[in-house]
Amino acid sequence: MRKILMLTALLLMAVVMSAAELKPVKYVFLFIGDGMSIPQRMLIDNYRKITHGEPAYINRMPYAAITTTSSASAFITDSAASGTAIACGEKTKNGRIGMNTAGDKDLFSVATHAKQNGRKVGIVSSVTLNHATPASFYGHRQNRGQYYEIGLDLVASEFDYFAGGGISKHNDTGNEAFRGDIYDLAAQGGYHVIEISSGGRAAFDALAPGEGKVLASIGGDMALPYVIDNLKCEVPSLAEFVAKGIELLDNPKGFFMMVEGGMIDWCGHANDAGTMLGEVAAFDDAVKVAKAFADKHPEETLIVVTGDHETGGLTLGFANSGYQSKIDLLKEQRCSSVIFARKVTEFFKTKPQASFEDIQPLVTENFGLKFTAGKDDPMLLTKGEKEKLQAAFDKHVAALKEAAEKKTRMRGNPFASAVMQVMNSKAGLGWASGDHTALPVNTTADGVQAEAFSGMIDNTDIAKKLKQMVR
Ligand SMILES: [Zn+2]
Repeated sequence: MRKILMLTALLLMAVVMSAAELKPVKYVFLFIGDGMSIPQRMLIDNYRKITHGEPAYINRMPYAAITTTSSASAFITDSAASGTAIACGEKTKNGRIGMNTAGDKDLFSVATHAKQNGRKVGIVSSVTLNHATPASFYGHRQNRGQYYEIGLDLVASEFDYFAGGGISKHNDTGNEAFRGDIYDLAAQGGYHVIEISSGGRAAFDALAPGEGKVLASIGGDMALPYVIDNLKCEVPSLAEFVAKGIELLDNPKGFFMMVEGGMIDWCGHANDAGTMLGEVAAFDDAVKVAKAFADKHPEETLIVVTGDHETGGLTLGFANSGYQSKIDLLKEQRCSSVIFARKVTEFFKTKPQASFEDIQPLVTENFGLKFTAGKDDPMLLTKGEKEKLQAAFDKHVAALKEAAEKKTRMRGNPFASAVMQVMNSKAGLGWASGDHTALPVNTTADGVQAEAFSGMIDNTDIAKKLKQMVR
């Protein structure tokens, strides 16, 4: 018995000692690429290798750790459970935000710890600010779909800087918990609220240190536009949101900033590699802003970059690509799969009697795929690819007809999906899923105590380590 007690005491000491190993760091950045594992990181490096561009900084950081992601309830995690693991350091069930598996205990994040320790805190995301990943840093809800309630948690957090996408269901009047529009509640709670899409860009640019709490979003319930679509040039880039955050959060006690590249995941769900390329590049640019800051404060800054899970089962290689990579062909893509699907829908609306030949220019314009060209042109569609598109066109027309007869809405977009599949195979890319996978992610780190992120870790270790550093 005494032996056991002594052993326990020694073990406890070892735990306490290892917990004391990491020292506080004044400036801590945590970047999360939603749906970004090793293939998503390598996609951009391979692309740039072919186009002679610089490899991504996120892949050149001096330390790296393979990171497991499974949740308490599933081998394959969702963004709520993984967000909670990364933010709070505990496994929970898929769907939970900042709560334990049973859903009866709140878990507290590294951001909350940082705030309690007198630091300033920033939360930035390219998707809505009450979406699962950012929500895990301030919210406590049983279900990630409780957007309005999570919005209430956002206002109650007192965090200093929220920026990026809008707020999902911010004016959920039918909700039992409804107490007013989240944007109004934030303003009443002392936040300087800026909605960039309704003329707020100048106000955003004018934000200066000493501002107090800031909620600077694109507005409404919108995410930022995809980089490839470039629809609203007045919307700041993720990098600009980070730069403004640094400006506003810098103070003698330091800060913690979490930045999410949220739409990398959406591109994974859509198996849209061309759009993903732009999102990973924008994410890398945002990390580089932190790196430039770290270069000015090398003794005081840590940058950690991770993903919450893999999405899509992306593989860099395809059945017919052999050992050749043709990822550079993705540069021919002109719009996201979302916008292309809209264009296809619009096409059939305006030309209900259209033939397969009629739609071909739309494919060439948006993806560079050619129906006729010299046989050495890499964008020339093969006989098999043309047949695949023709079959999808016929299926699309039949589905439209059926929906019209039954007076229902047509589900899916067979033609747009087939074009995406052909584009992927041309570029030598394969996708195994439209959902998440259990592939581990890569966590990379640069700066003070970056070596803590090496080897093989679990996503919960990220919070455990960072909580020590924001003391
Ligand atoms: Zn996802």
